[in-house]
Amino acid sequence: MPEVAIIGGGPGGSTIATYLAQAGVDVAIYEKAIHPRFHIGESLVPSTSRVFEEIGFLETMEKEGFNKKPGAAWHPSKTSGLFKMIFKDYPLEGVDQDYTYHVERAKFDLALLKHAQKSGAKIFQGVGVREVLFDEETQTANGIRVDISGQKVDIPAKIVVDASGRNTILGTQLGLKGRDPIFNQFAVHAWYENADLGPEHAEDYIHIYFLPAERGWAWQIPISETVTSFGVVAEKEVFKQSGKKIGDWFEDMVRTNPDLEKALVGATKVRDYAAEADYSYSMKKFAGNGFVLIGDAARFVDPIFSSGVSVAIHSAAYAKDSILKALETGDVSESAFDDYTVQLKSGVDVWYEFILLYYKLLHLFTHFVTHPQYKLEILRLLSGDVYDRSEVDVLDAMREKIATIENTPNHLLKDYIGDIPIDFRAGTDSRLPA
Ligand SMILES: Cc1cc2nc3c(=O)[nH]c(=O)nc-3n(C[C@H](O)[C@H](O)[C@H](O)COP(=O)(O)OP(=O)(O)OC[C@H]3O[C@@H](n4cnc5c(N)ncnc54)[C@H](O)[C@@H]3O)c2cc1C
Repeated sequence: MPEVAIIGGGPGGSTIATYLAQAGVDVAIYEKAIHPRFHIGESLVPSTSRVFEEIGFLETMEKEGFNKKPGAAWHPSKTSGLFKMIFKDYPLEGVDQDYTYHVERAKFDLALLKHAQKSGAKIFQGVGVREVLFDEETQTANGIRVDISGQKVDIPAKIVVDASGRNTILGTQLGLKGRDPIFNQFAVHAWYENADLGPEHAEDYIHIYFLPAERGWAWQIPISETVTSFGVVAEKEVFKQSGKKIGDWFEDMVRTNPDLEKALVGATKVRDYAAEADYSYSMKKFAGNGFVLIGDAARFVDPIFSSGVSVAIHSAAYAKDSILKALETGDVSESAFDDYTVQLKSGVDVWYEFILLYYKLLHLFTHFVTHPQYKLEILRLLSGDVYDRSEVDVLDAMREKIATIENTPNHLLKDYIGDIPIDFRAGTDSRLPA
């Protein structure tokens, strides 16, 4: 019987398993797939390197030869051109690199899972978790029920970690899931060879293309020397109203941005279109008696800033502190995980507020981030430095800019402000969805 049973061997599950195993905890991952397996989420942010370094995985990232990502490049819609944000302009404390990585997730997730195993975690692949078991009297999670070759097997554990990603096993079982009140995005993506990756010195960047559709944008992520991932995102309603099949919709959207169209003109598709929908939500709580939710199993915010893997592995880092304390004291009640909830929520809330303001300012974003006063602060956010911060001044500056435009009659930029509500504020709004 493991002390800690982890559902899912994605980045969140493997990272927390590594931390706990390295601390001497008997920990096991139950992963329904057999790695390597495809996954979306292929571009990282620099703050991930801090966690990789802490768990001794940074060396593997280098050895595996993942593509280095020096920054992000943004392309306006309708006209050609780009501006770049370069990570080396804002060195992150505790990170000794001026780049992060683009990853083929099958390869990256397998390497991280193997690292967890090497660190002492037990890994069971091809083992799907059906449900989390609870002590009836105390309503405390005390194990999991898994499927092994069609047989149901119960595995007891002192603490259960749900790292099942957007499958949200425990959130669904307990009815904790709240839909995001604002975002309902839809994405279609595919892989290409021989894409035109843009001007010299910008091939290795993530390229973000603005699209003239509600909350529309596209990504270009070079995941290996030959393969580039492209994805198109917009409000789900935009897709629905098109009445198109996913591939036709993708191609139509590509044609709305000249730079994006150019990137794909001579490219060959090597992985077919796939769609991702309904991916913005939060659980009403991130922990309960005997259980903790991490990564996408806890909360998912819009992927515009490539935050997902960073959130997954940071949530693992914070959850491990509370879990180690709970195992030591024997108190696995919900309140034992309060610190974890506060830390995760404060970091993800900063991402969330930044994303809200970004979508509000969408067409002004380029203007804003090239401003000498704000550029570095925005770069700091884009690098994933969102945790343990009491103030994020640049978010207030973005709000002020919006207010000035909204309150100035006939302001030239008025038409460029989106209609998205921005009352949510990180650090002051303690609500999780009802
Ligand atoms: C359109 C889109 C684009 C994105 N782009 C980016 C990006 O560029 N950069 C970025 O960082 N993030 C991106 N993300 C987010 C990223 O995919 C996730 O945030 C990240 O994978 C979360 O990691 P995780 O470990 O929490 O979950 P996952 O990576 O989903 O891992 C969960 C694991 O649990 C397993 N599992 C599920 N159910 C069960 C079960 N019942 N029993 C056992 N195992 C189970 C799954 O097989 C999986 O291996 C994007 C997401 C979307 C939707």
